[in-house]
Amino acid sequence: MDAAPGEVKDSMAADRSDPRRAALEVLRDELAGGRYLMAPRNKKGRGTRDEGRVTGRAVPEPKTSPQPSSPPAPRPQPPAPEGGPPEGLASSRDAGLIDAKPLTDPAKSPGERLAELARLSEKCKQCELNKTRNKLVFGDGKPGAELLFVGEAPGADEDATGVPFVGRAGQLLNKIIAAMGLVRGEHVYICNVLKCRPPGNRTPLPSEAAECWPYLREQIEIVAPRVICALGSPAARTLLGTEETIGRLRGRVHDFRGTPLVATYHPAYLLRNPPEKAKVWEDMKLVLKLLGRPVPKPGKPQGGGQE
Ligand code: SF4
Repeated sequence: MDAAPGEVKDSMAADRSDPRRAALEVLRDELAGGRYLMAPRNKKGRGTRDEGRVTGRAVPEPKTSPQPSSPPAPRPQPPAPEGGPPEGLASSRDAGLIDAKPLTDPAKSPGERLAELARLSEKCKQCELNKTRNKLVFGDGKPGAELLFVGEAPGADEDATGVPFVGRAGQLLNKIIAAMGLVRGEHVYICNVLKCRPPGNRTPLPSEAAECWPYLREQIEIVAPRVICALGSPAARTLLGTEETIGRLRGRVHDFRGTPLVATYHPAYLLRNPPEKAKVWEDMKLVLKLLGRPVPKPGKPQGGGQE
């Protein structure tokens, strides 16, 4: 029988010896500190998934006494990644979860580990989304893909098929991949921050992103891409641990644990704002440069992306 939400939380609190649980606790602490997925809310107080903006459920501001007797103690900072971010990279994500115990056996092949991770996520009941989804959407591609795209969450088409980026936004992403001279499934791996669709395509809650984080973390580690591209604010903010808007994050190279990361607008945003395609193409040229690939000439048949 499924555990009720409160029972899940209680059992997690009791089982702190489990490294994965401990990792979630760490991320929850960060969320409680307002570091992840925090953004202004719309007038109705709801989050949105539009225009590449991220608005999740805001963590309430802690109440402070009018005249504190002493300043609050500073939060302990996680250790910096060994050696710091590579030269030229703009930022480096919180290292607090780097040493989390893997969910799959590192001694197995990347293909076996990815398949095992997908099976584990199929059984996942860590957040309420498992109750409303139709199909879990784990990822599309092979370990060793040189480029990893990370989106926000499955939509209706993805929820129906179990494959990420198959709707209109996915078709646009396929065209972008083909224009780069790459082949989806061959050079490119695609996944989302969340593996289950939020009802009504709403923006993922910070708690949902936290619950799903161990799967994404390990997925990235197994795929081991040379470059990561975050599509839209939710993905960029989750991976970089920042509250910056996608407009400020795009156009430069960030660091995700030693792997270069470029953030750009989500294809769904481009469908509503076609003039922004030029900026995304500039970001894709940056990705190609990081991959050491030439920028294909316009009009030349490229790649083999799905339609
Ligand atoms: S969204 Fe992620 S954490 Fe939530 S039930 Fe699905 S796999 Fe589990």
